[in-house]
Amino acid sequence: MERADVVVVGAGPAGSTAAHHLARRGWSVILLEEHPLVGRPVQCAGLVSQRVLDMAGTDKMVRHHLGGATIWSPSMNPLRFQAGETRAHVISREQLDFLLAERAARSNVQIRTGWKFRKIVQGPTAPGSALQIEVETPGGHDTVETRLLIGADGVASTVARRLRLHRPIEILPAFEADIPFADVPQDEVEIYLGRQLAPGFFGWSIPDGEGNLRVGVGINARNGLLAIEGYEHLVRAMERRYKTRFPSPIRTIVSGIPIGRVPNISTDHGLLVGDAAAQVKPLSGGGIFTGMRAAEIAADVAHGALADQDLSASRLRAYDLHWREELGGETDRALYFRRLFVQLSDRDLDRVLEILRDSKLVSTIVAFGDIDFPTVTIRELLGQSPSLVHLFPKALSAYFRRRHGLAPDVLAA
Ligand SMILES: Cc1cc2nc3c(=O)[nH]c(=O)nc-3n(C[C@H](O)[C@H](O)[C@H](O)COP(=O)(O)OP(=O)(O)OC[C@H]3O[C@@H](n4cnc5c(N)ncnc54)[C@H](O)[C@@H]3O)c2cc1C
Repeated sequence: MERADVVVVGAGPAGSTAAHHLARRGWSVILLEEHPLVGRPVQCAGLVSQRVLDMAGTDKMVRHHLGGATIWSPSMNPLRFQAGETRAHVISREQLDFLLAERAARSNVQIRTGWKFRKIVQGPTAPGSALQIEVETPGGHDTVETRLLIGADGVASTVARRLRLHRPIEILPAFEADIPFADVPQDEVEIYLGRQLAPGFFGWSIPDGEGNLRVGVGINARNGLLAIEGYEHLVRAMERRYKTRFPSPIRTIVSGIPIGRVPNISTDHGLLVGDAAAQVKPLSGGGIFTGMRAAEIAADVAHGALADQDLSASRLRAYDLHWREELGGETDRALYFRRLFVQLSDRDLDRVLEILRDSKLVSTIVAFGDIDFPTVTIRELLGQSPSLVHLFPKALSAYFRRRHGLAPDVLAA
């Protein structure tokens, strides 16, 4: 039987980050990845902020830089912004995962590819003791003993289920394809809104700087549309706009985006990070920044708990608290705005974009635009534009009253 202070399940950005930060402090760490190669299959559009490069400590995976965006309304009227400087990076997601795992390996993390976490076979028998987990290996089955189990195993987390951490979240089906087509503006991301292509979320098109477009949609599953149908609708709309047929995709992705709040992301001898903990930005579905930052916080808390030989739920709860302190406010506000967004009809969305075409508001978007903290921009826009507030008179006036401490917490409603 193998033994390690910590077992991290999943070598995505969150898992490799947590493993690295624990191993560099001297703890023995095993990182399990069910696939034979870290970084494959890719399930991501790879749009990230500078913060991700800073946390990764490298920019080797960057392929392209973007400084603008065009949002297409349901009736295909564009709203354009140009910052005149880099606001987001397009990365090779496969390489990001590889570089993060390589950094973890340099810190002495033992990476086991082709190893799949199955279940907890024995819980801790006494405070401070270890738990045993069963893993499927290329040669059969094995048992690993560990003091701390970190679930970084993505949207369908088995670790969350085995730790009995309830996840009352929404999972948005997503479909994306890489299309070899470069005859588009190269310095901007395109966002497409409308119920026919992406009810409850949006479609996107991102030039990868290597001659391809990453075109995808996320949708609200309750609308009866399949993500692939939304994607096909988006591609037809883009083909009409560019007056050409797109070549066949060279790669497709089918996955899910977890949206919501997981009430507890820690328990006795266990933590969740990244998509497993739904640490995803609710308005964009981006989870690399949030997952990596959560992994850093989790590693800090776990380090103290391991050193004190106290891996109880009450000790590890410091991770929930630090995470909420740092990113909980942004997440709650984004969830609130998302709830308002899903109520908007296509006509409402057309109207919102019409209002935002005002040059003063466009300047506000450019000045405050930050892909990791979108609610800062939304709040500025609401403060400047009564017409936007009038789209949701009751909900937004309650929101503003709450900000000033005058109304009950509408988020909890
Ligand atoms: C279509 C799409 C586009 C996206 N675009 C962006 C974007 O542009 N920018 C952005 O920031 N985010 C984006 N995201 C979200 C982003 O991909 C995720 O938030 C991010 O991958 C989460 O990282 P993670 O480490 O938590 O989990 P993952 O990256 O999902 O990694 C989990 C790992 O665990 C492994 N695993 C699972 N179960 C087991 C098991 N039982 N045993 C062992 N290993 C296991 C998996 O193989 C995987 O390698 C997108 C998501 C989708 C679906």
